[in-house]
Amino acid sequence: MSHSHIDAAQVGANVADSATAGATADPDLIADLALANRILFQERVLDAFGHVSVRHDKHPDHFLLARNMAPGLVTDHDIVEFDLDGNAVNANGRSVYLERFIHGEIYRARPDVMSIVHSHSPAVVPFGLLRHTPFRAVCHMSGFIGICAPIFEIRTIAGDSSDLLITSNELGAGLAKALGDQTVVLMRGHGSTVVGTSLKQAVFHAIYTEVNAKLQAEVMRLGEYTPLSEGETKTARKTIDTQVDRAWNLWKLRVKGEV
Ligand SMILES: [Zn+2]
Repeated sequence: MSHSHIDAAQVGANVADSATAGATADPDLIADLALANRILFQERVLDAFGHVSVRHDKHPDHFLLARNMAPGLVTDHDIVEFDLDGNAVNANGRSVYLERFIHGEIYRARPDVMSIVHSHSPAVVPFGLLRHTPFRAVCHMSGFIGICAPIFEIRTIAGDSSDLLITSNELGAGLAKALGDQTVVLMRGHGSTVVGTSLKQAVFHAIYTEVNAKLQAEVMRLGEYTPLSEGETKTARKTIDTQVDRAWNLWKLRVKGEV
């Protein structure tokens, strides 16, 4: 009998711990991941759904992700370790996210990626539906989006009657392939997935992906527009990358109610 079953009410799954544990992850990394969950909820990238993960600091073939719960409520004790196949190390009977395969397969495909945010942030969703208008950087803060974010079409793998969720390694690998070497991949009728070379950078990218979507939608309503050129996206990205800590520190204080 299979150990997994789908809990429709919570959109989670109960799985047996089948991955092998090794050295424990850095407690500071676990604390930052819990904080990242609450920051992304506060900044309205995540609501009751969506998730953020970070690659294990001692086992690059493992990653850390909250158990199946609303991100705004995540604390250090809710973080679970997984292998790249999505097997849990220490769920200890707790329900885990159905879409954990997004994370494992992108970490497998992209050794440079250290953190991933998957969200349904609402301003981005329409751009995953558009057929002829690319989602692209329209502001210096979001140069990392480039000039055309790829769109993952789940029908190419799952047919036309899926629930649109990434619930298997096959679908996760398909999403990773669509992402390619980019930073943002849109998921038609679902949301988006954003990566970073650090947890803080992935959080920054996720927040400014939503900002860019609002700006691009607004300018499209106003008229013809001039987005960033490819060269501008690359140069702006390098400069803005050096400013990630400033934003993180502000968001952190806001979560703590200190600003
Ligand atoms: Zn999702």
